[in-house]
Amino acid sequence: MVRSIWYMTPPSIHGDVVFRILRGEWTCPWCQAETAKEDGANDIGWVETPLRSRSPRYICDGCAIDVYSTCARDDFETHPYKDIVREVAAMEGIPLDVFRRICVQDQVEIINSQLQKADSPDVQRRRNYLLALLKHL
Ligand SMILES: [Zn+2]
Repeated sequence: MVRSIWYMTPPSIHGDVVFRILRGEWTCPWCQAETAKEDGANDIGWVETPLRSRSPRYICDGCAIDVYSTCARDDFETHPYKDIVREVAAMEGIPLDVFRRICVQDQVEIINSQLQKADSPDVQRRRNYLLALLKHL
């Protein structure tokens, strides 16, 4: 059985937009593997996140999905990707539990902004799940 999506990532923008905003190339500070370039047409997407402790706050979509999905898991404590989240939190100088709480809180805020646009059952379900999770963090 495929697990339905339980998390929410910030809205994605193209690499060429990041390039224009920052007036230059930007390499993802978490994976160091993706770079936003002037011609970003085939580039991976980018998101702005409060999980970055200083500006610029752009990370690549791949890192966003890994970190946001893992922080939102109810089996976070035993999940193998917890180590990835731990590394990123250490990179940002934020304690792991605080980092995870900021992440889930951000997801709830993203969902709240989406609900104003479209009150879809899927978004509503994710919101209820994340709010319940947040109570335990
Ligand atoms: Zn990345």
